Amino acid sequence: MSTDCVHVAVRVRPFVDSERSRGCVQILKKVSSEPQITITGDSNSKSQDTYTFNNVFMPEISQHIVYDECVKPILPKLFDGYNVTILAYGQTGSGKTYTMGTVFDGDWENTRVGIIPRALRDIFKTVRTMEDSSTISITCSFMELYREVLYDLLTDRSRDQSVCEIREDGSKGIIINGLCEIPANDEDKATNCLMTGGSKRTVGATAMNDASSRSHAIFVVNVKAVRLDGTGSTTAKFTLVDLAGSERSKKTKATGTRFKEGVKINQGLLALGNVISALGGGTASSNGYISYRDSKLTRLLQDSLGGNSVTLMVACVSPADYNIEETLSTLRYADRAKKIKNKPIKNENSDQAEIQKLKQTIQDLRLQLLDR
Ligand code: ADP
Ligand code: MG
Repeated sequence: MSTDCVHVAVRVRPFVDSERSRGCVQILKKVSSEPQITITGDSNSKSQDTYTFNNVFMPEISQHIVYDECVKPILPKLFDGYNVTILAYGQTGSGKTYTMGTVFDGDWENTRVGIIPRALRDIFKTVRTMEDSSTISITCSFMELYREVLYDLLTDRSRDQSVCEIREDGSKGIIINGLCEIPANDEDKATNCLMTGGSKRTVGATAMNDASSRSHAIFVVNVKAVRLDGTGSTTAKFTLVDLAGSERSKKTKATGTRFKEGVKINQGLLALGNVISALGGGTASSNGYISYRDSKLTRLLQDSLGGNSVTLMVACVSPADYNIEETLSTLRYADRAKKIKNKPIKNENSDQAEIQKLKQTIQDLRLQLLDR
């Protein structure tokens, strides 16, 4: 798998009951063995569009296969010192939380277990195989970003007291002040973080009228590997994001609070869309400026898009004609994202690594000079 582009997978979920009872028809087809998806028009239109991605998963494809095909191959990168990011994008109800496994009940037997728990289990499998050569320490954080306020889901403090600020540090990148990093030395500790944080999110959401579809959930695993032969260490950050629902929807504007919410488009997603367009479509301003600072989400993901990370976006869509507008918009968004080029750089802490980084900087500067 090439690591310098943002890798994009599209996942079509099966019909849900509400779509079945509406008599919806399926508008997405995979017509060849290539990772392509064709969207046929609804009954009012005869148009057909075909998009190509890195993976296309049709409704019958299991959690297991999705994980094995697009997540498992990139996990070893974490132990080589590369940051890895996975983002789930799509309208509310398209399968983001299901795919990411943001909600986990501890039942490993369930075939519905999603990406995050599966990845945690494999991370600790790898840790055990490396015990003879390295000391590996892992910590977990879990945040929720709602209406431009970042909450720590793993602190014991009350929700009001759990607000975190984002700071930029020249050498370390983005730092989140006061964020809990819970040490986890096995998969149970790590999945506990996921469950504890998840339950706080749910409690908050009920009080705020299903805010969960308008908030971003961000689970972070920090991996530090110190080589026992004294030659140095690597650090890597694994960021898993269950994004807010991407609909601007007329459909969800129905009542009181939701109406107000619906009118106020999620600022983070809007900014993320702008960053993706700029990075993928070459529409960055003439000085190459990408507006990461427009929202907390884009500041948090600065390293993941157009930066120093191996990134996978899973675009989740409904199969039904009823959601055609949202599905088209997701496919277009995903299509732009796949054009983004990242520059994954190993986070290696040794003189050799420093030299490597400087060499890379010289190379980048040379290219910039040639471009002039
Ligand atoms: P989102 O997080 O995008 O709002 P969910 O993940 O909550 O959406 O999914 C909406 C509904 O569809 C849930 O009931 C979920 O269990 C179901 N679902 C989503 N994707 C799949 C899938 N691939 N297979 C089976 N059920 C799915
Ligand atoms: Mg969800």
